[in-house]
Amino acid sequence: MTIKEYVASEKLRLAEEVKGMDHVPCLAIIQVGDVPASNAYVRGKIKDCGEVGVDARHLRFPEEIAEEELLSEIQKCNDDPSIDGLIVQLPLPKHISEAKVKLAVDARLDVDGFHPLTSFVPCTPKGIVDYLRSEGFDFTGKNAVVIGRSNIVGKPMAHLLLKENCNVTVLHSKTKQEDMAFYVGHADLIVVAVGRLGFLDERFTYKPSAVIVDVGINRNEEGKLKGDAKEGLPVALQTPVPGGVGLLTRLSLLKNVLIAAKK
Ligand code: NAP
Repeated sequence: MTIKEYVASEKLRLAEEVKGMDHVPCLAIIQVGDVPASNAYVRGKIKDCGEVGVDARHLRFPEEIAEEELLSEIQKCNDDPSIDGLIVQLPLPKHISEAKVKLAVDARLDVDGFHPLTSFVPCTPKGIVDYLRSEGFDFTGKNAVVIGRSNIVGKPMAHLLLKENCNVTVLHSKTKQEDMAFYVGHADLIVVAVGRLGFLDERFTYKPSAVIVDVGINRNEEGKLKGDAKEGLPVALQTPVPGGVGLLTRLSLLKNVLIAAKK
């Protein structure tokens, strides 16, 4: 099944689940400023919510909002019993601390999975594992390589793959090129989250049975969306960009909202 087909069928399942719930789940989305990419991401999240019957509450604040004021708006959402899940669209303007904002969101509402005490699995790693499982990928004992060690993708991805009993290697910008080639060449699963166009290409060798999950979002010279891996690498499965991990991430957000609403 393609990722688009998988996501469409999962949304139908979630919509049925919502119909059977005792209240309409509500996701509050806080957005600061008018960054075009954020506008597009928020529009996508609101559309997803509409498709499965979740109430999306979009709270917009001007770019100049003071940090204190934003933190107090987050607190208002934390205290609002009608809100099941709360996310703050990133990036934030430079005068606002992302770390403080992530801590300000009540861990029980933190459906992005960013708070240190959150019980929610961060959306991108969760979406990837759920999809691979649906494809029949057997994680146990597989050599998984995660390229990138950010707090929102690389680290939680490595953690989740360990929980799935993979042998996990995390690579990053300080990894030596020959080591990168060695680990990539021996990997059964490669999750690439670097943010560099064509980072994985035919300079590397791959196991023919390998799976490449491409998290990267880049624009090529023509302005088209592309991943971190060159298209058509000689592996068994390679997720596309667009129409890949981005859709899985959005699906996970809906799943987390439903979990929050049931608590
Ligand atoms: P990030 O915070 O910038 O982290 C990038 C990671 O890549 C860092 O750990 C960095 O290593 C590593 N890296 C950079 N250059 C490298 C190199 N030459 N060799 C090996 N590793 C290198 O980015 P992020 O937030 O994790 O996002 C990564 C990409 O995924 C971006 O394109 C982002 O837009 C995309 N993304 C997509 C989704 C989705 O839903 N599709 C979700 C989140 C992010 P150091 O730690 O050593 O600097």
